Amino acid sequence: MNTDGSESTGPDAPANQPLRFRAGFFGNAGRALAIALPLIVVAWALWPEGNGEVPDVENPQHVIIVLVDTTRRDSFGCYGATRPVTPRMDAIAAEGVRFDNAIAQSSWTLPTVTTILTGTYPSIHGAEGKFTGEANTSFHRSRDEIAHGPELLSGHGFKTHGIVNAGFLDPVLGIERGFMVYDYFPSYNWRVRRADKSVDAALEFFQKNQRKNTFTFLHLFDPHLNYDPPGEFREMFSKGYTGPFRTLTGPQIQKLIAEKWTPEVEGRNYLRGEYDAEILFMDREIGRLVDGLRALALYDRTMLIIVADHGEEFWDHGGFEHGHTMYEELIRVALIVKLPSRYEPVRSVVLARVCQVDIMPTVFDVLGLEPPATFDGESLLPVMIDEATPKDRPAYSEGTLYGVDKVAFYQNRYKYILDLGGGDGELYDVIDDPLETDNLAASQPDIALRMRAALEAFRSKLQDRMAQLSPARRVDMQAEQNRQLKDQLEALGYLR
Ligand SMILES: [Zn+2]
Repeated sequence: MNTDGSESTGPDAPANQPLRFRAGFFGNAGRALAIALPLIVVAWALWPEGNGEVPDVENPQHVIIVLVDTTRRDSFGCYGATRPVTPRMDAIAAEGVRFDNAIAQSSWTLPTVTTILTGTYPSIHGAEGKFTGEANTSFHRSRDEIAHGPELLSGHGFKTHGIVNAGFLDPVLGIERGFMVYDYFPSYNWRVRRADKSVDAALEFFQKNQRKNTFTFLHLFDPHLNYDPPGEFREMFSKGYTGPFRTLTGPQIQKLIAEKWTPEVEGRNYLRGEYDAEILFMDREIGRLVDGLRALALYDRTMLIIVADHGEEFWDHGGFEHGHTMYEELIRVALIVKLPSRYEPVRSVVLARVCQVDIMPTVFDVLGLEPPATFDGESLLPVMIDEATPKDRPAYSEGTLYGVDKVAFYQNRYKYILDLGGGDGELYDVIDDPLETDNLAASQPDIALRMRAALEAFRSKLQDRMAQLSPARRVDMQAEQNRQLKDQLEALGYLR
């Protein structure tokens, strides 16, 4: 039992136990609605073909995007971690290509995941929002005219399968678009479907669909708050600590995030240790996915992408968690691509800067499919298989879940961060100062001015394009949850 009285699923908890409906996500409002309901797997029976079946093919192609939520780049051994907790993902990187300088297009889950699935910037797909408090939290669903990769892939005969574990990826927000099966578990802090259950679901899918073209989005939530690694992973890096963070409570988290409460070094080390142990557990399960694909003889024909939606701050810049800044600990992320064996990568590490927005264009390129006109990104296949030295691309990241919006723009060695609430811009040389400790805005005013102009020009182009698009539809999450709860209760016969 966890600190708020809810329970986690995972090896230390039974599967399919009754769940509280979104408790946690909507705080007290959610708890007021807390009614035991079974795990809901959303199967899109309304798919045009009825049962979502696609034909068997002779040489099936498989694409898997494993999204490792909240996993910092510096947790990975292959990115130089001091406590490497990713042996299985490092092994995938050793076989594939590791992108050393990949930039997330936002600092939190909904916009970045939608960017990965649409190949567009958050301004363009429109799936954004702001955590404004429990009663009026509202988000926007992606714009109808922006195609999601899975929609197009299903049109090309791919069986599309989403295994998704975050409240911010609720199907009402558009992430479900194009998935024939959207297996959604609204994990949030204290209630999580762990990586083992998610990998089980993925392996069951591959067992049944070995001879079909498939696209799988496997979203693993384990490293996200609350840090409560299962079984033998609990306190494996944090033994002996007896301080207040052993039972991380809601009010503590609130204080850590909103009030910028900074624990003593022992407390910080404890939290990072538990977070790392969650990553190690998740890594073991990703290894089990690879083993399962190998046992089914599917691994060689699989394009496997591992990417984080964003990182996590452990007081690098005086704050905690994510969704609140544009610093590197949040938006410079891990990206690993293992190509199907018919491709021969010419390099194992790409140092040039790339973006999440490039991921879906790369998938289409590898599959030999025509990209839609909506993609903003560019395929990364050439930098993996062509000898020509990859070039840095400018990168843009936008949007915070908390507080005033911020944007960041990268060009060459510089990064410029702008607070859209009218704050001063910040300038960093991310080559010499990758931890962003020295704001050069005052000492290098010419460069700051140039970077700001480049950022404004980029934004203005995005805004011109946005003006051509329909408005993203606002979703009142609480009303939507209430409606869903009512539907489910009716379906279960309670309200008749
Ligand atoms: Zn996330």
